[in-house]
Amino acid sequence: MSRPELRLHTDRLVANIRAVRERIAPSQLMMVFKDDAYGHGLTWAVESARDAGIEWYGSYDIASGVEMRRLLGSDGRIFAWVTSTDEEIDEALAHHIDLGVGTAEYLDRVIERARVLGTRARIHLKIDSGLHRNGLLPEEWEGTVAVVRAAEREGLAAFVGIWSHLAEASDAEDDDARSVFLEAVRVSGESGATPEALHLTASAASWWRPELRGSLSRVGAFCYGIRSAEGPELDGIAPVAELSAAVTRVRRDDVVIAIGSFDGIPSTLAGAEVGTPAGARVLRSVGETSSVVAGWPGAAVGDEVTLFGRGEYGEQSATGLAERIDTVGEEILTRLTPRVRRVIVS
Ligand SMILES: *Cc1c(COP(=O)(O)O)cnc(C)c1O
Repeated sequence: MSRPELRLHTDRLVANIRAVRERIAPSQLMMVFKDDAYGHGLTWAVESARDAGIEWYGSYDIASGVEMRRLLGSDGRIFAWVTSTDEEIDEALAHHIDLGVGTAEYLDRVIERARVLGTRARIHLKIDSGLHRNGLLPEEWEGTVAVVRAAEREGLAAFVGIWSHLAEASDAEDDDARSVFLEAVRVSGESGATPEALHLTASAASWWRPELRGSLSRVGAFCYGIRSAEGPELDGIAPVAELSAAVTRVRRDDVVIAIGSFDGIPSTLAGAEVGTPAGARVLRSVGETSSVVAGWPGAAVGDEVTLFGRGEYGEQSATGLAERIDTVGEEILTRLTPRVRRVIVS
């Protein structure tokens, strides 16, 4: 009864997906579901995305990719990009999950597992375009492409994609990354390869930098309505979830609500504004399982306080809260613990 609730609005998720798709067309949307769909809950997010017609599903790890495959059946393409163990590779191959491959060592293991299982691995090779966080170096690119091409001829691999990840720190750096990426595409083309999926951009660059988009755009945050920290509001995009907690005590000039740091609320958020039936009020302090909010006339036990949402009660968005403590909206959402009940309201 007094457990906090993260309320999920399917209609808003669907509207965001539509807005992202329109914005990035003709690039196709790969929706990203890492960290339990950015804290919203994987099952709800994947099923809603499938109903909205999503074709490509981005899963950071293979275990969530397998869960997504269970939800999707034979529909959709699933892409998992974290370098994984041989057991996980076997799971991925058995469940028709595309693999992001960013090292020669991982490539060798993926091909070997395909050989052992008698199947064909679907591979998206990653070029390090400057982020230095996994990815083949330009000088090893040509040789690695040759290894994938040889595995293709043996029936052990399909070279379906080339990808990279941007730092999004400055436009100039991202432009340099794009040059490295395009050079990798050119070199692989010289080997006769024609991978269908070229993908470089996440939310911000997909939205703001049309010239950087490939045939696919990997978008997580904006689909869930999480705008960039210090970034502008986005046309047609609204927060998909709101976090609500019940008033459990009314005191002289404040109220106690049933949510705290054990639910994943950073105690450093004290001082932020939250939403109440009377509009914005200050969150005075954050305890372990309860917090204190400045009161309002007529406040009653059972009233609801909205910690974040889309501003209907005077509250901020998750990103608005995050900016107070120099982090990103994703972190506010993904820190919420299982004590917070996920409730689908539309
Ligand atoms: C998280 C992630 C994305 C999606 O990023 P958003 O900013 O949430 O859209 C895309 N690609 C990779 C490799 C990621 O890790």
